Amino acid sequence: AAAAATTYPSAYLDPGRLRNVAVIAHVDHGKTTLMDRLLRQCGADIPHERAMDSISLERERGITIASKVTSVSWKENELNMVDTPGHADFGGEVERVVGMVEGAVLVVDAGEGPLAQTKFVLAKALKYGLRPLLLLNKVDRPSVSEERCNEVESLVFDLFANLGATEEQLDFPVLYASAKEGWASSTFTKDPPAGAKNMSQLLDAIVRHVPPPKANLDGPFQMLVSMMEKDFYLGRILTGRVSSGIVRVGDKIHGLRSSESGIEKIEEGKEASVGYGYVFDSDFSIYLEDHTPIPMVECVGQVWEPVVKLMKKKGTSMVLIDSAGAGDIISMAGLGSPSIGHTVANTEVMAALPTVELDPPTISMTFGVNDSPLAGRDGT
Ligand code: GDP
Repeated sequence: AAAAATTYPSAYLDPGRLRNVAVIAHVDHGKTTLMDRLLRQCGADIPHERAMDSISLERERGITIASKVTSVSWKENELNMVDTPGHADFGGEVERVVGMVEGAVLVVDAGEGPLAQTKFVLAKALKYGLRPLLLLNKVDRPSVSEERCNEVESLVFDLFANLGATEEQLDFPVLYASAKEGWASSTFTKDPPAGAKNMSQLLDAIVRHVPPPKANLDGPFQMLVSMMEKDFYLGRILTGRVSSGIVRVGDKIHGLRSSESGIEKIEEGKEASVGYGYVFDSDFSIYLEDHTPIPMVECVGQVWEPVVKLMKKKGTSMVLIDSAGAGDIISMAGLGSPSIGHTVANTEVMAALPTVELDPPTISMTFGVNDSPLAGRDGT
């Protein structure tokens, strides 16, 4: 224990307290509402409904397009929750996400039962060996009875079985919830007692049922990039799960990818240093720790000069962190070239991590300049 204490000075690098969980569902079964509730319960200051849908198109259409991660603290654990799209059109997103987590919450509308996308996302989760928890949502609806819940539960069980689930995966816990009213219960009820009208039972079930990541803190730092965002000030923001080692702000890292000719280096990271203590909101406006906004003009000179490196989304805010260890899902800025599927690693590492195989697109299109001899002669 003493040796461990010296190697990992900060307790928050301990992978044992982490849980990486994907929330998967058919569209409209209540995933976004559920995520809002979880964030609220864990103390996030939610500025608006559908906090996880940060792209304005997502808010407008009420759908999730891109996956996103947010971490919530629950008791002594830290839960990295990944919201995934339920549309088959964005299936590649689901595939990348399930490769990053050890557990999943399968949200099913108790009235509608499992639908096409339930099957699609569940198949991906099972393929990656996850043991999903089943959350029957919208139990508050008058049409949802205990019999209906039992029926849906056995439909989901059959779906698991048809998709080739293992004995272990078939033994899934079931929770009953009304994301809209903000509660989840491990036994069927339509009206939990006042003190239990919250998400505690779901959060406890996640901690109990989802294993902590298997992570090697001693190895060199390596991370597979699973998501990518662009920020006007920070440039490219890469998100992924740290697969081994510890990364600290200022560390020298580089991007790697496997190509036909072997491992290829993408870009040498610039050395970086960071001013700590700044918090960003989801649109990357910038705030001091006490939430006083800093005018953008000032930001340019004072804060943006150093390259910002490590971040984590806590609730709805982006928070800078000084280090992160294996098993954790984090975001980093500083490298401009690596992209999804590439490995970011300590400069001593010259091996790329295996990438996730994505299903081929249903339709692909190529747009180009019209180079036909008839170009410009067609019509008026
Ligand atoms: P998503 O597409 O899975 O993210 O689903 P949303 O969270 O957008 O929910 C779809 C619709 O179902 C919205 O109109 C929600 O208000 C509604 N809804 C979500 N959860 C519940 C619930 O527990 N009970 C009821 N009655 N409606 C819900």
